[in-house]
Amino acid sequence: MVDRAISIMDLDPGIAGAIKACNSVLQMRFPVKIRGKLEIFTGWRAVHSTHRLPAKGGIRFAPGVNQDEVEALAALMTFKCAIVDVPFGGSKGGLIIDPRKYDRDEMQQITRRFTLELVRKGFLSPATNVPAPDMGTGQREMAWMADTYKHLHPEDINYAACVTGKPVHHGGIRGRTEATGRGVQYALREYFRHPDDVKAANLEGGLGAKRIVIQGLGNVGYHAAKFLSEEDGSKIIAIIERDGALIDEDGLSVEDVYRYIVENKTIKGYPGARFVEEGAKVLEMDCDILIPAALEAQIHEGNADRIQARLIAEAANGPVTYGADQKLQQRGVIILPDAYVNAGGVTVSYFEWIRNISHIRFGRMQRRQDELRGHQIAAMLEEHTGVHVAEDLKENLTRGADELDLVRSGLDDTMRLAFQDMKSLRLGNEQVDSYRVAAYVVAIKKIATSYIDIGVY
Ligand code: GLU
Repeated sequence: MVDRAISIMDLDPGIAGAIKACNSVLQMRFPVKIRGKLEIFTGWRAVHSTHRLPAKGGIRFAPGVNQDEVEALAALMTFKCAIVDVPFGGSKGGLIIDPRKYDRDEMQQITRRFTLELVRKGFLSPATNVPAPDMGTGQREMAWMADTYKHLHPEDINYAACVTGKPVHHGGIRGRTEATGRGVQYALREYFRHPDDVKAANLEGGLGAKRIVIQGLGNVGYHAAKFLSEEDGSKIIAIIERDGALIDEDGLSVEDVYRYIVENKTIKGYPGARFVEEGAKVLEMDCDILIPAALEAQIHEGNADRIQARLIAEAANGPVTYGADQKLQQRGVIILPDAYVNAGGVTVSYFEWIRNISHIRFGRMQRRQDELRGHQIAAMLEEHTGVHVAEDLKENLTRGADELDLVRSGLDDTMRLAFQDMKSLRLGNEQVDSYRVAAYVVAIKKIATSYIDIGVY
């Protein structure tokens, strides 16, 4: 996909090669005593680019993790950060583990030991390499990692910035947990603000009442589906999970399904919806928008011709293979690529990192000042017009932005601008025939400039 973008760019082949190459990769094998027996764990941390530091990207805990996957995902982080103007390099980590097989204490032991390896080898620090949650990891793991780093480097005043996605009471930022899902929502909202783009997908109107199929009700899928159905009026007509799919043409309640999964560890038996054993088949169901929010390579050459969605929003990393991408494009299916659609996570990670190195919550200094100014404006309006300002209007005017408001505003702005960058590139160049090519061209241009500026040529 990157090569395709490079092929239509006027780029020095040496620079192209430098951009594509993965800078370094660390493989770790370490023992942890589990239930009286030593188990050996294998993990990786790949750093794809260091033109900007720290290098940034999640750590996944999954049984299928391997070095190629980690390197590819690290590369995707480089492009993702460039597209949304997050001034970081790209990195990714992974550990071969099925987290469901270990209890909380065991997971803590394994995570802390993994962190120790990363720190000792120079693959984790606030200045150079900052992990975040990914598949199989979350706030809990990030808190353990930050604490392990803090104990190893108590003199590092910025220790809290060594990972992002931490719990709010341990240096996390409000809005990070749902950030990737929010970003998916904001990306779709922005897409639907452009009628010509909407028409290209053979759709019309706004995001409301659009029929959506979503794959994966993990952190990203759950929040995206929840926000789109509760706030934009979209209908979630199917949810695909690892053990099957639920279908309801009238729209599923995402919150109910999510609660059912948490309680029962399966979607089987969920009342009030049709259950389909073969979940993958449901990807092919007729719908307006398909949101793959689970694993990679879910839409491949074997099923691409049967996909009926008009628009695919890649909430997962790499859910559409290269072959499938070509086939879908020939059929006029529009794809909003992963490097853009799911960049909300790393965007808010950037905000968290800034919060950590500035040691202050966003909004702390100016919130009351903004409120005061709002009150003064309202009072002045009332005095000069003799008209009473309506209470709800007054409330909006006099409310100072808190951290969550600012995070949302920053994320929304980021997703809007990135879409507009891709769009304007497409308008000026027929060779840029998809949003994916546009996303990569935008990213590669920025990275190339940065490489040239620092003297890699
Ligand atoms: N794991 C997420 C991703 O793939 C977030 C990375 C981050 O916040 O650094 O984009």
